[in-house]
Amino acid sequence: MSEGERLTELAKRRGFYFPSASAYGGASGFWTYGPQGAALKSNVEDAWRDRYVVKEGHQEISAPTVMPEPVFEASGHLDGFDDMIVECGECGATHRADHVVEDATDIEEAESLPNEEVMDLIADHGIECPSCGASLAGEPVENFNLMFETNIGPGTSSPGYLRPETAQGIFVEFPQLSEYARNQLPFGVAQIGKAYRNEISPRKSLVRVREFTQAELEHFVDPEEDEPPLDEVADVTVPLYSAAEQQAEDGGQRDLTVREAVDEGVVASEWVAYYLGVSKRWYERIGVDMDRFRYRQHLAGERAHYASDCWDAESEVDGDWIEITGFAYRGDYDLSKHAEHSGEDFTVFKQYDEPITVERATVDPDMSYLGPEFGGDAQRVADALEALAERDPSAFDADEVTVEIDDESYTVPVEQTNFSVDEVTESGEHVRPHVVEPSFGVGRIIYTVLAHAYETDEVDGEERTYLSLPPEQAPTTVGVFPLMDKDGMDDLAREIAGDLRSAGLAVTYDDSGAIGRRYRRQDEVGTPYCVTVDYEALEEGTVTVRERDTTEQKRLPVDGLAETLEQLSTGDRTFDDL
Ligand code: ATP
Repeated sequence: MSEGERLTELAKRRGFYFPSASAYGGASGFWTYGPQGAALKSNVEDAWRDRYVVKEGHQEISAPTVMPEPVFEASGHLDGFDDMIVECGECGATHRADHVVEDATDIEEAESLPNEEVMDLIADHGIECPSCGASLAGEPVENFNLMFETNIGPGTSSPGYLRPETAQGIFVEFPQLSEYARNQLPFGVAQIGKAYRNEISPRKSLVRVREFTQAELEHFVDPEEDEPPLDEVADVTVPLYSAAEQQAEDGGQRDLTVREAVDEGVVASEWVAYYLGVSKRWYERIGVDMDRFRYRQHLAGERAHYASDCWDAESEVDGDWIEITGFAYRGDYDLSKHAEHSGEDFTVFKQYDEPITVERATVDPDMSYLGPEFGGDAQRVADALEALAERDPSAFDADEVTVEIDDESYTVPVEQTNFSVDEVTESGEHVRPHVVEPSFGVGRIIYTVLAHAYETDEVDGEERTYLSLPPEQAPTTVGVFPLMDKDGMDDLAREIAGDLRSAGLAVTYDDSGAIGRRYRRQDEVGTPYCVTVDYEALEEGTVTVRERDTTEQKRLPVDGLAETLEQLSTGDRTFDDL
């Protein structure tokens, strides 16, 4: 069994996650988080919120999952959010063309290749349909848009889409959100929520699904002035697999501090470098194994055209690298597009300390001249003159001025433009912020954390499986067991479980089966501590507390138990210290 298969088996058996709606045959790419999984997910989200919202001082919002078509026209998703699809001529199954190539060759990022090249590779390597084994050679490789379409209200006049990323819900509200931030840059807006992609071939349980949770932060910064607090993470060592190393013959990962990565120019954007440092610590905190983790830079062909520097956090499971988070410097692309398409103001007005006096060139073209001269193009000529005056006032130094519109030249005598340069006082300027975006996939992180926590050993001559989850992330913090369901042990155990719950700990009460089996059940869901109430507990007021990874047991007084377990789970005390 592969690492992923054995994990999915455990996940189903113990209630972490399982395929949805299986009573009706299910639908591929949809998974339900069971009781353990939902608790783990909520702990991971809380840890994310704590780090990226609370500690960073950002705001969090919750936007709708359905948005109208114009949003995705502006964002570019309607036209460009495609994957390559190839359909088997024999059985009709559809596959991601880049993935079938990657699976059959050494090529790692076939996504960055043009469709024709992928089609040629399929033919050259004799690649077969993963479903039926027929040859895929000669089958066309086409683009498939991943957005789920719907209609808003009855009829079809108002198309909408399930959001393919949570980010657009933040970008479209920028004018409002900027007000809430008192128009002061930099500020960040975060969101944790569902995103939907109609993936061509969902696979590897939570890794490629059609509905998933993203935790995204859009950090709006003034590109001229704002700098990240790099010192806070300057000495964090980050495992970097740069584009240059990926392309070099003997290239590999390099471990550099954030400071070195910036100084050597390996990471171009200081903002991206800052978030690589912050997130490295965060991944460690939630239980990602740092020996199976790296940051990989996008190759030029992979990068979105607007993004100047992109890195993915990747984790290794089953020998495959999985993208768990994307870090991108998106420039002003998103806000410019929404400004252009909506006609709204997507800038921040930056007040100067003191008002300044500047020379401003303006025109007021004589329409009674432009109209007869240029007919229907007159207004566009007037607009072009205005833009030119702002951009290059010296163009009006001659007797005539020429503007180009759609490859056609229009020449106007300067005296007809009413060109003038006046002194004006300005109290500030409009700045279009740039965006730095860390975008986390919660499901892939959960999959990684579980895979990396999965351990086996031998206890009392039997093989044991346990999840070595950090206590902060574990779905249950404490299992409470009466040794036997009689003689008052059950009553005391219930009382202790109640007290621990009141103290805010996540507690499971279990009185069924042999005590060893109860330990195994908790080990398999990663419960870090188990409390057993035995006869001595009734007489002495002490219980045994067992630690998951070592299976070591200690006797502790019932008095103060909640406080001790709390300290253990937050890391303020270690089991050895008890
Ligand atoms: P991929 O190349 O694997 O399709 P992507 O580059 O399209 O991923 P992004 O658009 O950068 O992914 O999305 C940000 C994060 O959302 C990813 O790092 C990943 O963790 C998560 N994510 C994206 N698509 C899926 C999916 N289909 N299932 C689960 N998580 C996903």
